[in-house]
This record gives sequence, structure tokens and C-alpha cells, in this order.
Amino acid sequence: MKHYDKLFINGEWVAPHGSGTTTVYNPATEEAFAEVCNADLDDVNSAFAAARAAFPAWSRTTAAERADYIRKLHAALEKRKDALALAISQSMGCPLEIAKIIQVNCVKAFEKFADRAHEMEVEKQVNNSLVVREPVGVCAFITPWNYPLYQLIGKVAPALATGCTMVLKPSSVTPLQDIIFAEAVAEIGLPKGVFNLITGRGGVLGDALVTHPEADMVSFTGSTATGRRIQQLAAESIKRVCLELGGKSPFIITEDAPLEQAVTFGVKDVMINTGQTCIALTRMLVPASRYEEATQIAKRVAESLKVGDPMDKDTFMGPMSSMGQRETVLKYIQKGLDEGAKLVTGGLERPEGLDRGAYVRPTIFRDVHNKMTIAQEEIFGPVICMIPYTNLAEAIAIANDSVYGLSSGVWAATKEEGIRIAREIRTGGCYVNGGDFNYDAPLGGYKQSGNGREWGDFGIHEFYEIKSMQL
Ligand code: NAD
Repeated sequence: MKHYDKLFINGEWVAPHGSGTTTVYNPATEEAFAEVCNADLDDVNSAFAAARAAFPAWSRTTAAERADYIRKLHAALEKRKDALALAISQSMGCPLEIAKIIQVNCVKAFEKFADRAHEMEVEKQVNNSLVVREPVGVCAFITPWNYPLYQLIGKVAPALATGCTMVLKPSSVTPLQDIIFAEAVAEIGLPKGVFNLITGRGGVLGDALVTHPEADMVSFTGSTATGRRIQQLAAESIKRVCLELGGKSPFIITEDAPLEQAVTFGVKDVMINTGQTCIALTRMLVPASRYEEATQIAKRVAESLKVGDPMDKDTFMGPMSSMGQRETVLKYIQKGLDEGAKLVTGGLERPEGLDRGAYVRPTIFRDVHNKMTIAQEEIFGPVICMIPYTNLAEAIAIANDSVYGLSSGVWAATKEEGIRIAREIRTGGCYVNGGDFNYDAPLGGYKQSGNGREWGDFGIHEFYEIKSMQL
């Protein structure tokens, strides 16, 4: 059992003012393996005081200076990639070999923000006005457990690039990669107070972080329910709020698409990370004429995926991130059955041979109507709803019939046709004909999936103010 009894505030590891600890469990074994300290409101105040004190000097550094720190921090993270993958795998169940790719590869995207720092020095003369960019200020960051390092980097890297200072609180389910990150920050000698890390429960610390008078901006990734509350709380002081929330993403497979390829892509897209991916394509829309064939392919692919020990090199799908999340997913599976959907594969039973741990079978439902709860609400588990449609207009209408608008997918006979359909779908992203994930592309949602964009060149826009000087 590892004990982490310090917070990282003002460039130092300090004992918390708060008492109590949060236990970190391995969801594959249900055993506790680490304990982190809980910050209290005094610790929140100390962290914001440090971030505020650091802001004037940090915000006046040149882009070249900040780029230099980002490159050093990137190198320090590269050295820690194995430790990061292990920490994430042990705390949320992503298979270790897969975690190295889908959880930790984002480290390479960190360095790109070194170049983006220079965008802060772009100035524009507009008639008699000089228009300049300035950092938004002190940021409060709150991240979830499903891609904990990716979400950290998506916030911290642009904040550093633009000259902001920050206070970060990770999910209490997965605090360990943030502690490793803070160790890297300490190693490279980032000016004190620029990056501050506090650990503890969101339900306890969340309000203080979001409403803190020293926070100029709140950037939150997590559930839509928590995001809604954060936006309401932050409204009081008109803080800038950037929200990356939930999704229920549709995947339209057209009549003339290569069905085997498209369905295989769709099933693996959802099952990776045990369905705990905000952009997972969980509603598979299939032409009625090809529905039987598609369900058979989906069944075969899902049943071929190895579910089990995250430390086993052959495992494709580990456990859910926690026993609580397993319960949530099982309730949704039961709800689907109650509402009349039929199982193609998976269901409520434990996967064979896995008598403990937060495991769920890869589950596929057929005969799903888009109005069913399992097609409307984010399950955040390895569950796919296969929904038949009769023509493309209907498919697009079903795709858009959601309160969410985070991501989507299309597989058509040609890329051109895929792009045409993608333009009709009201989502912040779309994967056309199996396109790859791209760290340099902006990520964010329409509708109740949030506001603002992270990553890529657009990812720094949230972090600056614009000033016009009339000359
Ligand atoms: P969550 O909302 O329960 O928790 C997210 C974070 O908020 C955690 O750090 C938690 O401690 C904190 N928190 C909890 N209560 C709070 C409160 N009252 N005030 C402030 N903070 C509080 O979400 P989760 O279960 O950790 O993550 C899964 C969700 O995140 C899913 O809905 C998923 O779709 C979403 N997500 C979205 C994106 C995106 O980019 N749009 C990416 C990943 C995950």
C-alpha cells in the first residue's frame, strides 16, 4: 500500500491542513493499493493564493521562456511513461499494454503546446487599434477518471502555453498520475505557484474550487450533471467556464458501406477502455436491410474480445473503473431488458472465470428504439445499442435526436459521401470511414456535451483574453 500524504502547493510538497484520506482501489481485484490525503478548504485557499501570487510574473514571461519549460516538462513526462501507464491501469482498469497507447501516448502532444505559446505574441493592428492576447488568469481544473492523464494535459498544457497559473483537482478514483505529473513539475523547476495540485473529494472541494474568488476560469471535464451544477455556481461571478461533458454518440453505417469493416470498427471503438470513453460511438445505426447481418458481425466481434486481467498482454477489455460504475452499468442493462431491447451478446452475468473485480461482459442490444433510456442516456460502459433505420434522412434524424452532441461516426461507401453526412450531424467531432483519433484536432461538444474546445490550435483559445488598445 502506497501512501501519498502531501499536496503540491507553491512548488513544494506540503502536509495538508485537512485530515482524512481517500483510498485508491484496483478495480480488477477490488483491493486497496494506495491512499492519498484529502485537502480541505484551507488547502484550497493556499493553492489559489499561490497561483494568484505566481500569475503576474508567469504571465509576463516570453513565449520562448514558456516553451522552454513545456519542453523540459515533456521530457520529464517521457521518462515517466511506464509509471504513468501502471498508475492508470491499476486505478481504473485499462489493460496495461493498451494504457500505454490510449492513455499515455498523449504525452507526445504535450510538446506541441511549446510552439503554440508563440501564438500569444500574435498582435493585430485594426485601424487605430492594437489588438493583443493576454492570459485569462488563474484557472481551476477538475478532471475525471476515464482518461485522467489525457484530460490533465488537455488543460495544463494550454494553460502553461498562454501564461496562466492553475489549481488542479483530479478525480478521487484516479489521483496517482497527477501526483507523478507534479513530481515532474518539481523536477524541472517550474516557477513556484504556477501549477498546484490538491487531492480529495469533488463533492467536498468542488464548490470551493468553482466559486473561488481567485479563480478567473473553471475548466471541467466530467459528467453533464456535475457540469450543469458548475456552470450554475460559476455564473454568480461570471467566471469563464469550459465544460467537456458526456455523450451518446451515433455511428451511421450506410447501405453500401463495407459492413464487416464498419461494424468491427464500431464494436471495438466502444469496447476499448471498457466503454468509458466520452466519444464512444454507442448508438450504432444500421440500415434495416442489413440489420441481421450487422448484428451477427457485432456478436462475433464482441465475443472475440478477451476480457480479463489488465496486466495480461492479451486482454482487450479490463474491468470497469470501480464497483460503483459496474453497478451503474448493470442497472442500465437491466433497464434495456425491461424496455424490450434484446441481447445480441453480453448481459448481467459476470464474464466467465472472473468471480471478483468490476467486470462486465461486452454487451450489445438489438431492437433498440432511439427513445429508449439506453439510447438516450450515457451508460459509460461496454454497451452498444443497435438501431435500425430505413433511409438516410431517418438515420440523420435519429443521430441528432439526443441532448448530447459530443461525437459521431459515419461509414459510407466513399469518404466524400461520409463527409457529406458528417456535416448533417450536430456534434463537435465525427469519425468518417474509420478515421484515426488526432491529438492535434480540437475536441469538444455541441448541446449538453459542453462548450469550448480542448487540444490542437483551438485548445489555447479558451485560455486568453483579447485586449484592444485604441491609439
Ligand atoms: P464526475 O462528474 O462524477 O466527476 C468529474 C470530476 O468532478 C471529478 O474530479 C470529481 O471529483 C469532480 N466533482 C464531483 N462532484 C463535484 C462537484 N459537485 N463540484 C465540482 N466537482 C465535482 O464524472 P466522472 O464520472 O469522473 O467522469 C465520467 C464523465 O466524464 C462521463 O460523463 C464522460 O462522458 C465525461 N467525460 C467527458 C469528456 C469530454 O471531453 N467531453 C472526456 C472524458 C469524460
